[in-house]
Amino acid sequence: MKKLALILLLGSMMTFSCTRKDNQIVERTPAPEVAVAKERRCAAYEVLQQQLMADPSLVGRMAKIEKLTADVQKNKALYRLLPDGTIEIPVVVNILYKTTAQNVSLAQVQSQIDALNADYNTLYPVPALFDTLRASTGIHFALKSVVRKSTTKTSWSTNDAMKKTAQGGIAPTTPDSVLNIWVVGAMTGGVIGYAQFPGGSAATDGVVIAYDCFGTVGTATSPFNLGRTATHEVGHWLNLRHIWGDATCGTDYVDDTPFHNAANFGCPTYPHLSTCSGTPVEMTMNYMDYTDDGCMALFTKGQKTRMLATFLAGGGRNGFAH
Ligand SMILES: [Zn+2]
Repeated sequence: MKKLALILLLGSMMTFSCTRKDNQIVERTPAPEVAVAKERRCAAYEVLQQQLMADPSLVGRMAKIEKLTADVQKNKALYRLLPDGTIEIPVVVNILYKTTAQNVSLAQVQSQIDALNADYNTLYPVPALFDTLRASTGIHFALKSVVRKSTTKTSWSTNDAMKKTAQGGIAPTTPDSVLNIWVVGAMTGGVIGYAQFPGGSAATDGVVIAYDCFGTVGTATSPFNLGRTATHEVGHWLNLRHIWGDATCGTDYVDDTPFHNAANFGCPTYPHLSTCSGTPVEMTMNYMDYTDDGCMALFTKGQKTRMLATFLAGGGRNGFAH
């Protein structure tokens, strides 16, 4: 079982960014003419260090949220206060486009909202080993509005420029009570999305997703065309960590997820055994791993508790609890 290790956590949290490897895959593909598979991966640590250096007070803010989360996990009285089934999150989608294709349609935006609602509230089939761990989170999403802005930028980095008017971006709409999603064209380094954790600056709060990994129709492109880049990033926004804990056999501060050696890519064959202590079967289909959209299927009950704790007073997302 994973233990709550606050000190370790604070050294390795803040903003996660997710990247895909494109050309690298060619090098290990025997036939270069074969279509290049895209993989998801994260550059979390580099971005985290930038955030912590830029804002020394962040550690303290996140420590308070983590203390509350730990208290909820072990205190039945607090646990009963969780807003199970009563959360509806208004969403504003901010679209920055250079090309016509990047100016994604309202139908594509709605397809992403639909995918979020499905993933956060459906018990999809999983291997029997994980069957009883599946959670319907009771968290719902509703499209509030779409903001569109033309840009001359061909690529964006993870420096949050897309969230700042002065840098050509779109400022977030009331981030204390609205989930802001920025949809952008290409991002440097093959980044396809990143998120900010509870406790971060309101001015940069929300998640960013590349236009070809957003929604389930239009420009959404396989293997990231089921809307699960957003499912994963919103998980971070609600304080979930990667299932491998961003370290070899690291912890995600959730009790009912197995230890993973590292991130998994593509569609691993089940069962994929960890070499971590106890050699557990890895939960490669968890939304917080890095498998392809079509191979993801669940949040656990422990992850649900962690997410719902953010909605309590002092949890970082209390502005969404009504
Ligand atoms: Zn991530």
